[in-house]
Amino acid sequence: MGSEIPQLHIFFFPFMAHGHMIPLVDMSKLFGTRGIKISIITTPANAPLLSNTIQRSNDLGIEMDLKIINFPVEAGLPEGCENFDTVTNGGTKRGMFVIFLKATTMLQDPLEQLLRECKPDCLVADIFFPWANDAAAKFGIPRLVFHGTGFFSLCTTACMTMYEPHKQVSSDSEPFVVPGLPGDIKLTRNQLSDMMKSNEENGFTKMLKDSEESELKCYGVVVNSFYELEPTYADYYRNVLGRKAWHVGPVSLCNGNLKDKASRGKQASIDENECLKWLNSKKPNSVVYICFGSVADFNSDQLMELAMGLEASGQDFIWVVRRDKKDENGNEDWLPEGFEKRMEGKGLIIRGWAPQVLIVEHESVGGMVTHCGWNSILEGVAAGVPMVTWPVAAEQFYNEKLVTHVLKIGVSVGVQQWVILVGDFVKRDAIEKAVKEVMVGDKAEEMRSRAKALGEMARRAVEKEGSSHFDLNVLIDELRLSHNLTKQTS
Ligand code: UDP
Repeated sequence: MGSEIPQLHIFFFPFMAHGHMIPLVDMSKLFGTRGIKISIITTPANAPLLSNTIQRSNDLGIEMDLKIINFPVEAGLPEGCENFDTVTNGGTKRGMFVIFLKATTMLQDPLEQLLRECKPDCLVADIFFPWANDAAAKFGIPRLVFHGTGFFSLCTTACMTMYEPHKQVSSDSEPFVVPGLPGDIKLTRNQLSDMMKSNEENGFTKMLKDSEESELKCYGVVVNSFYELEPTYADYYRNVLGRKAWHVGPVSLCNGNLKDKASRGKQASIDENECLKWLNSKKPNSVVYICFGSVADFNSDQLMELAMGLEASGQDFIWVVRRDKKDENGNEDWLPEGFEKRMEGKGLIIRGWAPQVLIVEHESVGGMVTHCGWNSILEGVAAGVPMVTWPVAAEQFYNEKLVTHVLKIGVSVGVQQWVILVGDFVKRDAIEKAVKEVMVGDKAEEMRSRAKALGEMARRAVEKEGSSHFDLNVLIDELRLSHNLTKQTS
């Protein structure tokens, strides 16, 4: 019957890294709540990270399943090494990073096999899978790109690639304005990725180039952001750069209950109730939360310096450290002598994985120290929390500018240099100063009130009639229309 609304079936295929899997799975849930059938594609070692979420979604009436494709053994990675997390944890060699990326290019064939079998109506695939355009085209379905980042950094990257202002400056530390980009945004060559600076082509730069091209040719881009956060850049991306995009975030807000908030990504290293009990014992806005995402891997000297800066700041804190192993004598070389004893009741160290959204949304959290991964920024914004920005690599120096320069809800710790995984060294005085600045005093209050206002806008954006809710509906209507047209002509 012509008037019946067809049920769409959409494939979601995230890059196997927590910063990509977590938001894309959240996003798929949003589609699922609109009556769309969802399949999430992943590899065997990543499946356990998703199975509980899928079960909980099913319990809520969302039609969602997991489709598993094998990770290519011929890539030569150790068994079970199927997630960026395992490649980057504990000082793993950079070479593995490149092998991992190469291995993902071998996923095209098994994906096509799945597309052939299941005949979904649309493929939402990660930007790091540029070949997904071709795979979708073979089966006559639209491919949407999922970027792990927001409009501001997408626009900055496009302007940097187009105008190459970093080639006009005489030193790595000389600031330049990003041409074309609204807002008088200044960067230095030191803050750019190796890939942006390098003239040589290697496996990674080629993949990035292919990704850029695939973005230009795909059906459109779904962005985890909300219009009110970065209207100038959302408009610039669409109207000046000419990209077709829908903003549907912050997707983390789809997690309404305690279990959903506490179970994103890996199994948390602390019981959520224990964590809440600790937070409940603190005054509103008195705790600073420190976390550097799922990839950054600071060395012991930096962690030691951070501990001392934190102690000197005098603030209560929750600090997440991606280390859960002690040496053979049961010691940890990254903690100052007696630190935890001195900090008892004042600071909580989570070794491994924290229930981040649960923590940042708690009223006792008054600030966060972040590496400026896009998800962490957006989760902080949605929770109305001001930030100390401490970018490490990827597009994090761009995100820092959005927080400090455009939104004015954070202060920079002062990192000067893009350094993959381990980051540029930051001294304890700078840490102490930035943490105090974001937690106490008039400036902190101003930033907090701006952050709270943005947090409210974020919530409104995902509610009925909100901008992200609306844009998701527009996208789904368009996909339904294209589905109907395809069915009529086939
Ligand atoms: N995350 C978490 N617990 C941790 C570390 C990270 O829940 O201990 C989540 C965080 O909430 C975010 C994601 O992992 O959703 C990290 O993404 P982001 O873009 O911030 O950084 P990346 O890991 O990609 O560098």
